[in-house]
Amino acid sequence: EQLANQIAAGEVVERPSSVVKELVENAIDAGSSTIDIVIEEGGLTLIRVIDNGLGIDAEDIGTAFFRHATSKISSSKDLFRIASLGFRGEALPSIAAVARVECISSSEGTGLGRRFVIEGGSVQRDEEANAPQGTDIAVRDLFYNTPARLKYMKTIQTEIGHIADYVNRLALAHPGIAFTLKHNNGLLLRTIGNGDRLQAFAAVYGTTAAKGMLAVEGEHPDYDLRGYISKPEQTRANRNGITVVVNGRYIRSFVINQAIMQAYHTLLPINRYPLAVLELGMHPSLLDVNVHPSKMEVRFSKETELREFVEQSIAQALGKQRH
Ligand code: ADP
Ligand code: MG
Repeated sequence: EQLANQIAAGEVVERPSSVVKELVENAIDAGSSTIDIVIEEGGLTLIRVIDNGLGIDAEDIGTAFFRHATSKISSSKDLFRIASLGFRGEALPSIAAVARVECISSSEGTGLGRRFVIEGGSVQRDEEANAPQGTDIAVRDLFYNTPARLKYMKTIQTEIGHIADYVNRLALAHPGIAFTLKHNNGLLLRTIGNGDRLQAFAAVYGTTAAKGMLAVEGEHPDYDLRGYISKPEQTRANRNGITVVVNGRYIRSFVINQAIMQAYHTLLPINRYPLAVLELGMHPSLLDVNVHPSKMEVRFSKETELREFVEQSIAQALGKQRH
């Protein structure tokens, strides 16, 4: 069991940002309206995620850290989750196999909850504790018992860079959630969570950048698209300023990036890219669900149609005619 967990850990927990991803996704799934993320030393000494979501029931907290203990199978019709079938219930056990984890959670709203401590897969504590509604999970000394993996970690700056990039995108994808991200006591991000995507954008990229954005709105029998793109004058040296959200989830999509670039084609200087945050809605049946979920990739069934729709909507926002 322990070995199986360590092997699974290799799949799920590649680096600190993968831990952040799993923990924050759980907090989002739990319906949280505030999520506070505290990182120390690029996540190698501490990754802590505090949410005000549903919490974990006292009798479930232990089993949540053992494999396939997920409670999400029957409760969710979300196709993204069905897409991740093979990975359900693996995150917490995998993390617990390669770190020291302390989880305090309350689902009662009574101020009482449970404190569960597990290190390298072995349970240290499982006791009643005072706790506000929600979950506070701290992952310390990641890879302390797998030195070979620890050796692969890059500099603290690189690791916090990956973490910040991911949290920024989640903040853009979920403007209704108030996020904070702290690193070694410095505040890297704070969003207010009032549902306004342009405000979330301003928190990530600055108010000046937000002022220069153009609104995108597109309707189609199969799709709808909304969000913001930068004017052609406002560019960056890489594609990282493009964030795409499909049916509420942040994803990566070559097709959509291509459509965006196509819409700008002659407007951008060579090797310059726009800033964009786009939310695309569609019927789940139009998404290919057989793609590795941890890579956040999806495939669309009507790719050409979708590409044209996205390109056209953006071209419209840019105020130019299609030929
Ligand atoms: P999965 O998310 O695929 O179900 P995880 O290992 O990530 O698997 O989590 C196991 C279970 O622990 C979840 O199904 C959920 O019931 C519970 N859980 C984990 N994190 C939280 C959280 N922040 N709030 C509420 N419940 C949580
Ligand atoms: Mg999870």
